[in-house]
Amino acid sequence: MKMSIEEIKNILRDCGVVGAGGAGFPTYAKFAAGADTLILNCAECEPLLTLHRQLLAQKSYEIISTFSEIGKALGVKKCVIGIKSAYVSTLDAITPIVKNFDNVEIKTLKEVYPAGDEIVLIYEVTGRVVAAGALPISQGVIVSNVETIYNAHMAIHENVPVTEKLVTVTCEVRKPQTVKVPLGTTVAELIDYCGGATVENPVFVSGGAMMGKIVSGGDVVTKTTNAILVLPAEHPVVKSKQRNPVFDSHRAASACCQCRMCTELCPRHLLGHPIDPSRFMRAVSNRNMSDTEAYLNAQYCSGCGVCETYSCMQGLSPRVLLSVAKNALKAGGIKPEPHEPSQAHPARSARFVPVERLTARLGLNKYNFATPISGYMKVKSVRLPLSMHIGAPSVAVVNEGDYVKKGQMVAKANNGLSVAIHSPIDGKVKFAGKEIIIQDCDL
Ligand code: SF4
Ligand code: SF4
Repeated sequence: MKMSIEEIKNILRDCGVVGAGGAGFPTYAKFAAGADTLILNCAECEPLLTLHRQLLAQKSYEIISTFSEIGKALGVKKCVIGIKSAYVSTLDAITPIVKNFDNVEIKTLKEVYPAGDEIVLIYEVTGRVVAAGALPISQGVIVSNVETIYNAHMAIHENVPVTEKLVTVTCEVRKPQTVKVPLGTTVAELIDYCGGATVENPVFVSGGAMMGKIVSGGDVVTKTTNAILVLPAEHPVVKSKQRNPVFDSHRAASACCQCRMCTELCPRHLLGHPIDPSRFMRAVSNRNMSDTEAYLNAQYCSGCGVCETYSCMQGLSPRVLLSVAKNALKAGGIKPEPHEPSQAHPARSARFVPVERLTARLGLNKYNFATPISGYMKVKSVRLPLSMHIGAPSVAVVNEGDYVKKGQMVAKANNGLSVAIHSPIDGKVKFAGKEIIIQDCDL
């Protein structure tokens, strides 16, 4: 029976479906009225990450049929799978299946970074530029990634809530692979499951070399954990994430030659957004606070890291300093103002960043090996943060000492933007507070 979009949204909220990766925006809230195009994001542009293309190849029918169904319920004209032409085996798997759905088509993309940035992807698929500070829906577009739509399929058709996350574990680890992990598992347990680190001083980078962050072994897998890169402490990717903004601002003053390469290659600047990292670096270098626009426009930086890892020949990091400015503006209550829709730069197509060259620049070529979806982890306990998504934290509905089954709701959606959280294991609740639920397995 055909479901209405409101019925689908209620199921997604109750089953805890959020963007699987990125910031974890609740999926039901994305499915707003006014869209004419739904995009399935299979660009997966962070070096070494292969989770989405593998999942789409393995679960093609489930994902594409649910994608088509949601598109029909939303009333959009087109459902487009945005996938790189380099993902040949996934394209081979999905091409015959797509033919069964009259509202679904494939758009192939170049092997460049950051093709998976929503705003970049929307331009590549539709030719429309989402204005700086505006949401994709302003251009009639909704984007969801592959694992999110797979989770939606499980919720809508199997009545299975989100209790696990696929995580790619790679680099300096004995058995690199992509594992299905119960939410709330510690990073240390996950690394152990993958055979342990192969270096003495491992540092764990969660989410990818470009936009990820350093986490500790005690941090847990959440609904947005895509990957854990295990790297030696002296690796350039680790060093780039440990930069000191004060030291960086002094380096900028002495070494920024105003070549403008950071601006010329900035993916958001190339879409006409007002972000201008070289102007910002000039203002920072000269301690010039009168160029207020340079600072205010920091809000339109996506944090993609192209300026830091690829553009700047002086080893400077506009990204780090821009993020300091962004955080200061946010703390001061200054929000990004939506701009008028802009035009893409005429030379944009000559300024792409090839993923192959980016991977080499990052010093990751030696880790470019297969990470097949292969394992399923079992754990003895889990720690579930109640803020795994954007919006209000979920509210615990269990108490210390309660026994819960796998899949049972342990925290309900809060008022406003929020989703529910479900138990990843059968077991006993050890602690239930406002920020976290801790459970032990009953085995
Ligand atoms: S690329 Fe580096 S040196 Fe050139 S303007 Fe940007 S920060 Fe300065
Ligand atoms: S991180 Fe650098 S390249 Fe990326 S959007 Fe910000 S300024 Fe542009």
